[in-house]
Amino acid sequence: MTKVLVTGGAGYIGSHACKALAAAGYEPVAFDNLSTGWRDAVQFGPFEEGDLRDAESISEVVRKHSPAAIMHFASLAEVGQSMEDPALYWHTNVLGSLNLLQAAVDHGVPKFIFSSTCATYGDHDRVLLDENTPQRPINAYGASKLAVEQMLANFSGRFGFSYTIFRYFNVAGADASGEIGEFHDPETHLIPLAIDAATGRRPTLTIFGRDYPTPDGTCVRDYVHVSDLVDAHVAGLEYLEAGNPSNVFNLGTGHGFSVQQVVDVVANETGNNTPAKDGPRRAGDCAALVSGSARAGEVLGWSPDRSTLPQMVRDAMRWHAGKGYSG
Ligand code: UDP
Repeated sequence: MTKVLVTGGAGYIGSHACKALAAAGYEPVAFDNLSTGWRDAVQFGPFEEGDLRDAESISEVVRKHSPAAIMHFASLAEVGQSMEDPALYWHTNVLGSLNLLQAAVDHGVPKFIFSSTCATYGDHDRVLLDENTPQRPINAYGASKLAVEQMLANFSGRFGFSYTIFRYFNVAGADASGEIGEFHDPETHLIPLAIDAATGRRPTLTIFGRDYPTPDGTCVRDYVHVSDLVDAHVAGLEYLEAGNPSNVFNLGTGHGFSVQQVVDVVANETGNNTPAKDGPRRAGDCAALVSGSARAGEVLGWSPDRSTLPQMVRDAMRWHAGKGYSG
């Protein structure tokens, strides 16, 4: 079986990618330091515990498995935390990626798939963002991902491997089986927090800012189902395997929902009010981030069919009602 190294394979998106890769006939090798991931989430192939900041550790794993491709998810991904501790983001996301890229070059891995973010675009005076939108991140998380995008272009130009970059909008939902899902400790993301508030597991949700230049004053985001998102990664791998050139794809639906609209959908799906209070803006948040691109559909044949807000909330609720991971 063709091996694919999946960094962050014990995390939320990485574990779903491993499942999708296994279903498509690949052997996913999960590499994770378990700082935010879970050993229980590694269910679809071998596990290698290690930290990307340790160059020797990742080099040894790449040498040992000699994968046909690397999917690189391992990173820190919280806007607020990145503003509190930017050094942590540059160290983990940028240095970690540099070590991984160097290992890929040293051991001749020909294909690379990188998990980037719409946070690389920053605030713009238009709502819809396509792949040609100038990248002007306003938080350290987005800046760290942009640095890795540029690193990939530099390395690929010099060493000749091909890559795809996926710029995610807001990832939500969980695998339909209930085997894997989103499990952060502490949780910081809107949909799981809103579900917890609506189901009484948290007293209340704080809405970060009602004074944004959006229709209801709360931030607007484009939510995409994690299962749709990882399907795009498998399609991106097949695209590279077919000999196509490096490319960049937004992964979003083109539809924006405000924080208040998300809260309302969660209330509707749970049948409970979502207790919510207003709080100040969170540092580093853009007012609106919505994908204005059809490229992933046109080039990869991707269609985010599961990415309706009620479906994502329902799938997340099913997962949250289970026991999660214990280790
Ligand atoms: N948000 C909120 N309260 C929370 C968590 C998030 O109002 O407790 C808002 C946040 O300001 C952003 C949106 O919900 O506008 C999505 O945030 P999340 O952290 O889920 O994803 P991000 O956009 O940071 O990737």
